[in-house]
Amino acid sequence: MKRKNLLGMSQDEIMALIEAIGEKPFRGKQLYHQIYERHELDFDQMTELSKSFRARLKEEFVVLVPQVTRRSEAADGTLKYLFRLEDGRHVEAVFIPEADRDTLCISSQVGCNVGCRFCMTAQMGLIRNLKPEEILGQVMAIVKERGLVRGSYSIVFMGMGEPLQNYKNVMQSFRILIDPLGMSLSHRKVTISTSGFVPVLKKMQQEEVFPNLAISLNATTDETRTSIMPLNERWGIEELMATCREFPIEPRRRIMFEYVMIKGITDSDDDARRLVRLLKGLHPKVNLIPYNPNPGLPYERPTEQRIIAFRQILVDNNVAVFMRRTRGDDIAAACGQLAYLEQKTPVAEGA
Ligand code: SF4
Repeated sequence: MKRKNLLGMSQDEIMALIEAIGEKPFRGKQLYHQIYERHELDFDQMTELSKSFRARLKEEFVVLVPQVTRRSEAADGTLKYLFRLEDGRHVEAVFIPEADRDTLCISSQVGCNVGCRFCMTAQMGLIRNLKPEEILGQVMAIVKERGLVRGSYSIVFMGMGEPLQNYKNVMQSFRILIDPLGMSLSHRKVTISTSGFVPVLKKMQQEEVFPNLAISLNATTDETRTSIMPLNERWGIEELMATCREFPIEPRRRIMFEYVMIKGITDSDDDARRLVRLLKGLHPKVNLIPYNPNPGLPYERPTEQRIIAFRQILVDNNVAVFMRRTRGDDIAAACGQLAYLEQKTPVAEGA
């Protein structure tokens, strides 16, 4: 009989399973704490639980993270992980070490069907949604391997996939990440990046607690945005920005707008000025991302001069702007690149 993987389950789900095998529900609570708060995956090491209970757990359950089949480290310390899932599919996650706080960039789907023209993952199409155990498995595997402690890292859903297309599983993972009895991260330390699924954004507005939002905007006219992000045809810039304005954002929180600068397409001074106008009244942060060229895609990175001029227009108009240094250039750190290559050229296993 296949043993059930407990990873990805909520406290209530674990308690119900424990009760179903004839144990007291409070033991499920202890187990939940061991897994998420202690990051303990081996029942034998859960020494706060009684020996007989641990033996019972081993008969019925496992706590499994996806297998790391490759690690690639860039010169700047960025570490890219390739995970193999139970069905042989691959997803990737990236660990970005920073002086003040590390960042884990994780995937939410195998592939993606949103079709952004500048993105490698889009070439795969959507294969399937990740389950909560596979989403949290990426986090748990990296946290354990790197010995990360609570409060020392943030999580961003910016790997493969559109998180809002896998809303249920992403939100289940988010709730465990921020649960004080679970992984106990602050909700301000978890960010979901979306290409702009307006109906799901409206649904998220009803949540009691929601993660930080990063909107992948990338263009300032509908014509250009539709040409690089076809979903803009369904939910145009105006509707997207209006939905952002409806968010009940706490005073010290801001919505992040990601803007990929692509040479000759989204990098003009006019774009910068239009961007300022679009963001009026939103108290936003802008993450400027000079395009990281991908093999086989026709887009180029703007010149340094162009990037500086664009950024200056935002700064002069009091827009808070951040520029992501291009991290991990030498390890194909662009979204979906490694897993895409993996799909095309199977590699020998063993990290
Ligand atoms: S950029 Fe994100 S939403 Fe767009 S195709 Fe790539 S993975 Fe999907």
